[in-house]
Amino acid sequence: MDDSKILDSAEDAEFRAQAREFLSAHAALRMGTDRTTLLSTDASREAELAHIAAARTWQRTLFDHGWAGIAWPKIYGGRGGTREQAKIFSEEELRYEVNTGALSIGLQMVGPTLLEHGSEEQKLKFLPEMLRGEALWCQLFSEPGAGSDLAGLTTKAELDGDEYLVNGQKVWTSSAHVADWGMMIARTDWDVPKHRGISYFLVDMRSPGIEVRPLVQITGFAHFNEVFLTDVKVPAANLVDQPGNGWRVANTTLSNERNMIGSGSGISFQSILELAHSLDRGDDPLVRQELAHSYTRFHLVLWLAGRARARASRGDHLGPEASVLKLLASQKMAADGDLVMALQGAGGMLKLEDAPFDGMWQSYFLNQWSVRIGGGTEQIQRNVLGERVLGLPSENRPDKVLPFKDVPRN
Ligand SMILES: Cc1cc2nc3c(=O)[nH]c(=O)nc-3n(C[C@H](O)[C@H](O)[C@H](O)COP(=O)(O)OP(=O)(O)OC[C@H]3O[C@@H](n4cnc5c(N)ncnc54)[C@H](O)[C@@H]3O)c2cc1C
Repeated sequence: MDDSKILDSAEDAEFRAQAREFLSAHAALRMGTDRTTLLSTDASREAELAHIAAARTWQRTLFDHGWAGIAWPKIYGGRGGTREQAKIFSEEELRYEVNTGALSIGLQMVGPTLLEHGSEEQKLKFLPEMLRGEALWCQLFSEPGAGSDLAGLTTKAELDGDEYLVNGQKVWTSSAHVADWGMMIARTDWDVPKHRGISYFLVDMRSPGIEVRPLVQITGFAHFNEVFLTDVKVPAANLVDQPGNGWRVANTTLSNERNMIGSGSGISFQSILELAHSLDRGDDPLVRQELAHSYTRFHLVLWLAGRARARASRGDHLGPEASVLKLLASQKMAADGDLVMALQGAGGMLKLEDAPFDGMWQSYFLNQWSVRIGGGTEQIQRNVLGERVLGLPSENRPDKVLPFKDVPRN
């Protein structure tokens, strides 16, 4: 029996049945190993564009049938349901050959941020087009000198009449080369301590002055980019919340990002088991022991994600839970990465069509660092846990109280 049937309330079981009915009428059931986008081995731009087009089409199908934005209010195009229902729908959707991963920065990071901090005009403009699959978003946060220490960013936004003039550089910006919109944090005040001088903007990625240069990753994909901003004009109406409140707004985005990475980075245990069986390793007692560890990791992450979701559905702000979840999910990916390579033995050295499953497990292994670094590194999640859960003293940070213009920088 699957776990969902044990945990569902009567109403949720009814909702799950409706979701299954809709999905089976509109999508093909996934057969065998779940070859998610993450595990695709085709690094070409054509494959990426085809994947994005499929994501947009599926998102539009969801919208047209009332299944988009399950927990978002109806006024913004959502279904007006509960977070538990959103979780149930995602679980069911995973069983089908459909994927909205290309739209996830918008749907899972920008959307929840605007719901919490956006103006009514911003919500009415941006949320429905996200739910219709029309807008693809990217996250313009990290800079060459501001990653773990994100609040040390130096991209500058200056108010000039009814628009801001933006100058600076971002880096590691996933999907910037295909994005319609970007959420961006930039410094608007250099005379106050660093966290207080940051503002949060919504930027049209086709604005003059934006230059995007792709970076190729260890996996061969070029999903992220450098972004150069030179005299980019951003309407003041695209400022989210108040000037100087951007750090607070960005933290909502970052918690949702950690939650998204933590909840979504797991390949199913079933797929690893299938790999073991396909290589005739399933009866080896030592392999079975490792598989048992993998099964345990899989369920721990699943339950931790459920706990974070339950907290969010009570209306609580997602805080350190998201860090715990992301840390555990990235450790799981590292341990499972080692396992899938060990299972292949010498075959692990092969790639693409010479390797089992066309080399998708090699991609999985190499991709572990994107989860371990992206959205805040493992070390930074540990700092959050140390300081905010265990109550350990924080590092000595004089730069937190000095006006940013007086903080020594190289
Ligand atoms: C696949 C991928 C996709 C990404 N996509 C995006 C994106 O779309 N948008 C975006 O804005 N960013 C994105 N990032 C950037 C990501 O958020 C940063 O890489 C990350 O926050 C780390 O910053 P950094 O690379 O500058 O490393 P640094 O901050 O320079 O850290 C270097 C090392 O020092 C350690 N370290 C730093 N400070 C401390 C400390 N105080 N205590 C202990 N250890 C510390 C770190 O853990 C790390 O090991 C992406 C990254 C990856 C890998």
